[in-house]
Amino acid sequence: MENKTILIVDDTIANLDILGELLDGYDVIDATNGSDALEIVQEEKIDLILLDIMMPHMDGFEVCQRLKKDPYTEDIPIIFITAMSDEDSIEKAYDIGGSDYVTKPFKPKELIARVKRELKLVALQEELKLLASIDPMTKLYNRRYFSKASENMLDLAKREKKELALIMVDIDRFKNINDTYGHDTGDDVIIAFADMLHQMQRESDIICRFGGEEFVILMPETDSDGASVVAHKIKEKTHNIAIEIQNKSLSFTVSSGVSSIKVHDEKTIQAALKRADEALYEAKQNGRDRVCVH
Ligand code: GH3
Ligand code: MG
Ligand code: MG
Repeated sequence: MENKTILIVDDTIANLDILGELLDGYDVIDATNGSDALEIVQEEKIDLILLDIMMPHMDGFEVCQRLKKDPYTEDIPIIFITAMSDEDSIEKAYDIGGSDYVTKPFKPKELIARVKRELKLVALQEELKLLASIDPMTKLYNRRYFSKASENMLDLAKREKKELALIMVDIDRFKNINDTYGHDTGDDVIIAFADMLHQMQRESDIICRFGGEEFVILMPETDSDGASVVAHKIKEKTHNIAIEIQNKSLSFTVSSGVSSIKVHDEKTIQAALKRADEALYEAKQNGRDRVCVH
């Protein structure tokens, strides 16, 4: 696992030294004032912040409030480390989004334990977030993630005046596979197809399991011609997938509908999904194992 980075913010150099020594195994970055701290979090990936409250110019409360207002930094946990032990300060620290509060002089082992606990919580939250966006069977993104990610991708395409295209792929006569070989073999087919998609994926593409045996690939900086090339590649590579079952080799085909997204006219990708679906329907009508471009 990569090393965690902890930002320590304190206007007293001696405190920075003590804490830095204590947090030996971590990557530690020091800041002696609030505005430096706010700059550092924009430049470095910070996993946890130890924040003093009493500092000149900008106190720790204000630093915390600013971090919590920015979506980019709002999830970084903050442990206040401070000489202020009055109840109102403690209450305020939690109210504005602090995760924990340690009073000086602190007990080193206790502080380390609290740091470890915060970092573990963050790791768990990240894992949950990932799990909620992945289809467990294929390890591809699920439809929920796709809805959000596609919006972001469309926003980016609008800003950068770039193209965006998508492919909707559906396994042909899949119900026959289930009926003939059973549901488990049907699952194996879906997994094998998803693995192939994974392998040929460009890093910038988003591949999602849209439904049972239906997949969508969203491709930035790609027009419908480019997407059509990819769809044909998928069609050909599917011909090479062989599922071993009952001493036989089962093969299958897929059909695709391709559409481009009118980046400047369309607010969501819904219309483009509909066009891809229409093209997919046409591919099915025309005999399957083929690509249709809307
Ligand atoms: P077409 O060529 O027109 O796409 O026909 P099809 O049989 O592939 O399509 P249809 O939509 O009629 O049937 C899809 C079937 O896929 C129905 C559903 O029971 C099955 N299915 C959906 N999800 C799963 C899954 O996770 N595993 C398995 N084994 N089957 C699934
Ligand atoms: Mg199908
Ligand atoms: Mg279907």
